[in-house]
Amino acid sequence: MLILGGSSEATALISALAGRTDVAAILSLAGRTRAPLQQAVATRVGGFGGVVGLAAFIREHAVEVLVDATHPFAAQISANAREAAARTGCRLLLVTRPAWRPQAGDRWTEVATVADAAAALGPDPRRVFLTVGRLQLAAFAAAPQHHYLVRTIDPAGQEHGLADAAFITARGPFDATAEEELMRERRVDVLVTKNSGGAAAAAKLEAARRLGLPTILVRRPASADGALDVAGAVAAIAAHRGAARRGE
Ligand code: NAP
Repeated sequence: MLILGGSSEATALISALAGRTDVAAILSLAGRTRAPLQQAVATRVGGFGGVVGLAAFIREHAVEVLVDATHPFAAQISANAREAAARTGCRLLLVTRPAWRPQAGDRWTEVATVADAAAALGPDPRRVFLTVGRLQLAAFAAAPQHHYLVRTIDPAGQEHGLADAAFITARGPFDATAEEELMRERRVDVLVTKNSGGAAAAAKLEAARRLGLPTILVRRPASADGALDVAGAVAAIAAHRGAARRGE
């Protein structure tokens, strides 16, 4: 089994499969995070070289099940996984988390891209809590009138082009009370984030709701049908092994 990871779902799936001796898994990471969480499974890091490279890896390692457990915004690798599975005849399981839905009290503006999020901040200077990921910061250089409080897992580096910004590095899960304190202390007046979904990063949305602050959310790319949660993926893998044992 090859697990395309870089998400909390991949971590949870690896933990859930830890006791199984009939499943040999390889985890694949893109290599974006400098110190990824260590996983109790063989791990390879770096791109495959597109669909052709991924298909070659699948054949070389006799992968029977390809699990796409990548982040909901990682659209390219998911498209590659679909195509490589189709070319090799390998079974594909898509594991993802539901998108966040607005709740009573939320003041959300949903936009299609990070560039749209930057534009949606408007002409007047605002104090923005920005949690869109280190690699997406440059889009906000186009809106230099705002102050940005940027939170990323790894340090943001020098390439972002933001004129007025403060930086925090932290890895979730986050707590709503601490998020509320942070946003109050830094006098944040708008939150900008991607609709990643999941519990680990939802606290900032709750904090914005409690503080009555507006939130600009980048919609996720359309996800494919038939996505499973982690328990569903474990069941599908168990069923696959059962069928293989019976020679089906
Ligand atoms: P992407 O745009 O969908 O993929 C770009 C290229 O990166 C792919 O074509 C592939 O290169 C390589 N790649 C991506 N995921 C890979 C993996 N798990 N193993 C090996 N190669 C991978 O992806 P992205 O948005 O840059 O995200 C990169 C990784 O970070 C993903 O694994 C994702 O789960 C994780 N992540 C992404 C976000 C986000 O907001 N996008 C947030 C948190 C975590 P080749 O074509 O050379 O194979």
